[in-house]
Amino acid sequence: MKVTLTGTGSPIPDANRAGPSTLVQCAGQNILIDCGRGVAMRLVAVGVPAPFLSAILITHLHSDHITDLNDLVTTRWILTPEATPTVIYGPLGTQKVVDGMMAMLTPDQKYRHDHHADLRSGPGLQVEVHEVQPGDEFKIGEARVIVGRTDHRPVTPTIGFRIEAEGKSVVLAGDTVPCDELDALCKNADIYVQTVLRPDLLELVKQFVPALASRSNDILDYHSNVEDAAKTAARAGVKTLMLTHYVPAMQPGQEADWLALATPHFSGNIVLGPDLTSAEA
Ligand SMILES: [Zn+2]
Ligand SMILES: [Zn+2]
Repeated sequence: MKVTLTGTGSPIPDANRAGPSTLVQCAGQNILIDCGRGVAMRLVAVGVPAPFLSAILITHLHSDHITDLNDLVTTRWILTPEATPTVIYGPLGTQKVVDGMMAMLTPDQKYRHDHHADLRSGPGLQVEVHEVQPGDEFKIGEARVIVGRTDHRPVTPTIGFRIEAEGKSVVLAGDTVPCDELDALCKNADIYVQTVLRPDLLELVKQFVPALASRSNDILDYHSNVEDAAKTAARAGVKTLMLTHYVPAMQPGQEADWLALATPHFSGNIVLGPDLTSAEA
């Protein structure tokens, strides 16, 4: 099982970090979790372009986690000789969002149908949406996926995924504060991927841009910070903690600072870094 951070950024655009997304490769499957800004480019960098994705799992419908879903859907269609549907699993509400996205793509579909006879005679741009809830389980090939509740209120519903295959397991928590359900989902996992922020650095941002102070305060109470993620990892007994979705963006040379916040709370392996950082179990 290989886990690659295909995007470690956040809603704040960064020159070097794509928006949040993570690729899990196991049991011959390429499973993408969330699809933030630039994900199609990062997938090419790891040799898994959009047509090779087995399924896309969505943790929640915040824009930074789904902004490039339309790019993946369209790219799969136009770059595959006989495209199969893009398979999407997400929380309740995903179908409505995808319906709106498909409406947005209607003019493009017409242009391509008008211009390419082979696309015109094919099945067209297709998606297959499965809305899932905490407690649900499903399979992608031989990989088993378990859905768990997370806590990113007032954003609801939000879900995390535990993927099990070949005797290994990884948990993709998405945006959440620590909670019992997350602990249960992570129990003894080989790898736990958590989106995190740094309240101490956000405090500095507030000083430089006072007009954004209240908005900065708002994001603190519905994300895990680095210490929270490390404590969840320790409670759940995971082997490897992967940190991603760095808010604010981790600058080159700051890795040790981020690590130093986690290590007092978790003695296992901790992985963080630039886009395309990976871990194996
Ligand atoms: Zn979010
Ligand atoms: Zn987010």
